[in-house]
Amino acid sequence: MRTTVGIIGAGPAGLLLARLLHRAGIDSVVLESRDRAHVEQRQRAGVLEQGTVDALRAAGAGERMDREGLRHDGIELRFDGRRHRVDFPGRTGGRSVTVYAQTEVCKDLIALQLAEGGPLLFEAEALGVEGAESDRPRVRFRRQGTEDELECRYVVGCDGFWGVARKAFPASVTRVFERSYPYAWLGILADVAPSHDELVYARHDRGFALLSLRSPSVSRLYLQVPAATRAEEWTDDRTWTELESRFETRDGWTLRRGPVTQKSVTPMRSFVHEPMRHGRLFLAGDAAHIVPPTGAKGLNLAVGDAITLARALAYEKETDSAALLDAYSATCLRRVWQAERFSYDLTTLLHRAPGATAFDARLQLARLERIASSRAAETDLAEAYTGLWA
Ligand SMILES: Cc1cc2nc3c(=O)[nH]c(=O)nc-3n(C[C@H](O)[C@H](O)[C@H](O)COP(=O)(O)OP(=O)(O)OC[C@H]3O[C@@H](n4cnc5c(N)ncnc54)[C@H](O)[C@@H]3O)c2cc1C
Repeated sequence: MRTTVGIIGAGPAGLLLARLLHRAGIDSVVLESRDRAHVEQRQRAGVLEQGTVDALRAAGAGERMDREGLRHDGIELRFDGRRHRVDFPGRTGGRSVTVYAQTEVCKDLIALQLAEGGPLLFEAEALGVEGAESDRPRVRFRRQGTEDELECRYVVGCDGFWGVARKAFPASVTRVFERSYPYAWLGILADVAPSHDELVYARHDRGFALLSLRSPSVSRLYLQVPAATRAEEWTDDRTWTELESRFETRDGWTLRRGPVTQKSVTPMRSFVHEPMRHGRLFLAGDAAHIVPPTGAKGLNLAVGDAITLARALAYEKETDSAALLDAYSATCLRRVWQAERFSYDLTTLLHRAPGATAFDARLQLARLERIASSRAAETDLAEAYTGLWA
């Protein structure tokens, strides 16, 4: 098989890239190791920055998002029994975020790709990338028990943190920056209307909790748990009771309980692979960087990479100049490190680290107090939360 751009992975990065390339008249083939149902049902992110919403609309993939997505103009910070709302439009000159699940973004992009775009092959597992430094890099892959090769002009690894593309970078050109956090998130999906109409980020002496949602009738809730926790250790009743403690306020706010339909544990990690390009091989999304989910940046970064790369490939096609391709890694990494900084700050602001002292707890409260009482500090949070596209 031959194509112009071989894309490994049909998550948000690979699917949006394929869509944007199709609109620019550039051929691509997407190889995805899992089946369609798995990709469409994998519960992950749900908060879209304004720039992501704009990009999906511009790609012709915004119709259902505009109908079903929920615009959010703020978040609530909860600490010391108090509630403080951060007003996004008021602090950012009009910006907001949209709650629309990653599963739905993927479903929309898959439907468009299958109807209008180039080949999207499910259950096609990339085994390795060869010849990244040559003119015709190749992806070896296995499909229906048979090994094959996809010969390309460029290869893009959109294959997530556990993918194979990154392994084709020689150690001599690679630098990895990494931090694992000593806690994880227990996440539940529950068939119950959200107890609040905006996301609630709670800092509590027992640990962090987040109230989020997937739709007006489905709640998504998270609890900070120790890193090695197994989801089975948490019965539904124990989970709700712990959530109630951590969201408790002095004004009598209550949490609605409902049937839990899914429960899982997500590790917390920061990771950056530099550079994001080697020869004719590019990395995009989680294949190159991971952020802890606290700042809701992972999906938005993946979208940012896909847009930057699609623009660079289209520019090369139109002008024969590789200038934007050459700038791809540095352009993305500037945004990535801002997201790493924000995600780290928000994580350490709200989570209780094992061994944290009373002094550490007081510092967290002082930092939260500062956000609640300073226009400048609140603006800094609102700008980073709603988008790092500048
Ligand atoms: C459990 C979990 C929960 C998360 N929760 C949040 C959240 O609440 N908020 C938030 O902002 N972010 C969250 N994230 C992060 C966010 O979902 C990711 O940043 C986003 O999915 C990145 O998109 P991507 O396309 O780069 O990678 P992915 O979505 O990981 O897609 C990679 C694709 O590549 C495929 N693949 C892998 N290896 C191969 C191979 N060898 N051959 C072919 N295909 C391959 C995979 O099957 C997958 O479909 C979460 C991530 C995880 C793992």
